[in-house]
Amino acid sequence: MMEKCDVVIVGGGPAGSSCAWKLGQAGVDVMIVDKKEFPRDKVCAGWITPPVLEELDLDTTDYQKHGILQPITRFITGMIDGQEVETEYHRTVSYGIRRCEFDDYLLRRSNARRKLGTAFLSLRREGTDWILNDEIRSPVVIGAGGHFCPVARQFAVIGELPQPRPSDQPTVLAQEIEFEMDKEVTVHGSGLIFSGV
Ligand SMILES: Cc1cc2nc3c(=O)[nH]c(=O)nc-3n(C[C@H](O)[C@H](O)[C@H](O)COP(=O)(O)OP(=O)(O)OC[C@H]3O[C@@H](n4cnc5c(N)ncnc54)[C@H](O)[C@@H]3O)c2cc1C
Repeated sequence: MMEKCDVVIVGGGPAGSSCAWKLGQAGVDVMIVDKKEFPRDKVCAGWITPPVLEELDLDTTDYQKHGILQPITRFITGMIDGQEVETEYHRTVSYGIRRCEFDDYLLRRSNARRKLGTAFLSLRREGTDWILNDEIRSPVVIGAGGHFCPVARQFAVIGELPQPRPSDQPTVLAQEIEFEMDKEVTVHGSGLIFSGV
């Protein structure tokens, strides 16, 4: 049976869930579709700044019941075999978060209907509505699928957006490790040293 909503959002990351949260506050019936089940991981350095918390109106006390919010006040940075530079701010300039917790928290807070473990497969127009995956009918569709957003790609196919051009930028590979911080840790990565307190 066809499901209906006011807005369907593809992607339940921070962009999709924050958008759904705001729309929900305005009384809009939102459905979020994501190919992953949550909590899910996302490659990320996991740093957010105080203005991010402000913008998201994040209740830090409630958040800390569910996840890690590590204040960062000082950095030591340097190149391997190069001189280290210490920067002390004497105030919280960043927080360390875990994306599996952060994204899951924001998604649940959005209170939107969720269709998780459901990949975007198709999008077509029927009258004034969009039909997603032949199972969701909505007058508005929002693409929040991240870097390779399938909605943006689909719109390019149907001519509503310019075709993505092959990038002449070099490809950057990222590797992530996660570890528990005690007092102070120093990580020596390829070409980068990071130390956080
Ligand atoms: C190595 C690295 C480090 C980073 N470090 C930081 C950092 O420290 N701080 C910071 O603020 N930002 C950081 N970023 C950037 C940050 O991760 C992104 O800006 C952020 O995740 C974008 O959020 P989003 O909601 O737009 O997309 P995403 O978080 O990517 O979410 C997109 C969602 O769409 C879903 N989706 C994708 N395709 C489909 C499909 N076909 N069907 C259904 N669902 C789909 C995905 O499963 C995903 O849940 C980093 C990025 C990288 C690559």
